[in-house]
Amino acid sequence: MKDGTAAKCHGKETGNNEIVNNEIVNNEIMEAESMENKIIYRNKRGCKAVFLDRDGTINVEKHYLYKTEQFEYRDGAVEGMRALETMGFSLVVITNQSGIARGYYTEKAYKKLEQWMIKDLAQRGVTIEKVYYCPHLPDALLPEYRKDCRCRKPGTGLFWQACKELVVDMDSSFVVGDRMRDLCICQESGVRGILMTKKTVTKEELWGGDIFVCSDWYQVIERIRQQCRNRELEWKAD
Ligand SMILES: [Zn+2]
Repeated sequence: MKDGTAAKCHGKETGNNEIVNNEIVNNEIMEAESMENKIIYRNKRGCKAVFLDRDGTINVEKHYLYKTEQFEYRDGAVEGMRALETMGFSLVVITNQSGIARGYYTEKAYKKLEQWMIKDLAQRGVTIEKVYYCPHLPDALLPEYRKDCRCRKPGTGLFWQACKELVVDMDSSFVVGDRMRDLCICQESGVRGILMTKKTVTKEELWGGDIFVCSDWYQVIERIRQQCRNRELEWKAD
């Protein structure tokens, strides 16, 4: 993707001399910037993040999990998250927790597991920037959670909330999930999506091929590394 600000400068071609002069100065400054400065400049627009689904992505999917003793990391998840942090990504977890709305476990029990996971990962050298969860369901058993909300995936409400609160540069960010409903933010922003699955998926299911498919965490890291390298080459060519 091209630099947004530079594109805007070029786009402002009016008859106004003052603006035209400013554009020339801006362009000169842009051209004089070194690669390093460009990276810093881009980072100033926001941090780069990897949005992670929880159940089935960070941990092995189990039926409405809420007990710490049942929590089991997926192969390569901890090392993978550590690698992403080393690459400069903030880690943001976005998770549907309809088990709360269904009355399978309380919001308090959910929070307890969330806090445990954050602490456990910290001890393993992984910092989770923030966890966002949706406790709702349109036909929830519990009336206080009965809501047709925007935060339950495929809704993208929590992604946009995170983007705003954590100042995320969506164009430099990724989302990783084990279901297509985890990746809907890709259709609304420049976030690149990775579906982690061992199943065969058709191009149609991947919205015409816009989503990368990886079978495990090792492939996910390889793919993100490659994408970052490509992006750097694009910038150098700018
Ligand atoms: Zn919700």
